[in-house]
This record gives sequence, C-alpha cells and structure tokens, in this order.
Amino acid sequence: MSGAPSAVPAPGSQLRLVTADDARAGSVGWMTRGACRGTDPELFFPIAVTGATAGQVSSAKAVCGRCEVCADCLSYALETMPHGIWGGTTREERIAMRVPPAVRSAAQAEGPRPCA
Ligand code: SF4
Repeated sequence: MSGAPSAVPAPGSQLRLVTADDARAGSVGWMTRGACRGTDPELFFPIAVTGATAGQVSSAKAVCGRCEVCADCLSYALETMPHGIWGGTTREERIAMRVPPAVRSAAQAEGPRPCA
C-alpha cells in the first residue's frame, strides 16, 4: 500500500516523514486526528527539556493532554523513538518507559501517565 506522506505532530522541517509504507509506522491513520495539527511544530521540538525551555515542554504536553490519539501517538513514539514531544512525553521519558519494570527504581515504578 502506498500513501501520501504525513508528518506528526505537524508539518515542519524537523519532522521525519512517515508513509503508510513505513514498516515501523504500522497504522498511522490516527495522525490526522492529533490535537497538534495546525500548531507551531517548533513547540514540540524544544532544544532542551529543562531550564528555559521547560515551559515549552509543558505547553506541548498540554496539547497532548487534550489529544484524542495520545495513546496511539505514544505507542508509535515508543517504537520509533523520534526526537521531540510525542504522546505527552519527551524522548528521555520514553527511554525511561522502555526500561523493564523489574529494573526500574521505585521512583520510576509508576512511570509517567502522559495520556488522559
Ligand atoms: S499526542 Fe501530542 S504529539 Fe501526539 S498527535 Fe496528539 S497532540 Fe500531537
């Protein structure tokens, strides 16, 4: 199946183009329903997740928090591990989420709950 390329969270130069043929993408139909569509893509690609850009991260996560496809987006991001905010998480948070529960510290045991 061949599909037109689409970008999530929104069209922009830093985003990896995904097509329906992308073996890692699986079903990407959810992308067209993201709450981030139409927002400035730069919001989802902070240069850092702490310090002066912490507010930017919070703003991006707030958009994800009201997104109906947050869980799909997070699953996709956990598999593909792109840079930026996806599914209400930073890349660093997604890396931590991939650590097996038995290896996580007590503080990490619960893990983030980015999608409502
Ligand atoms: S979870 Fe966030 S990044 Fe993913 S589609 Fe929704 S608004 Fe966009």
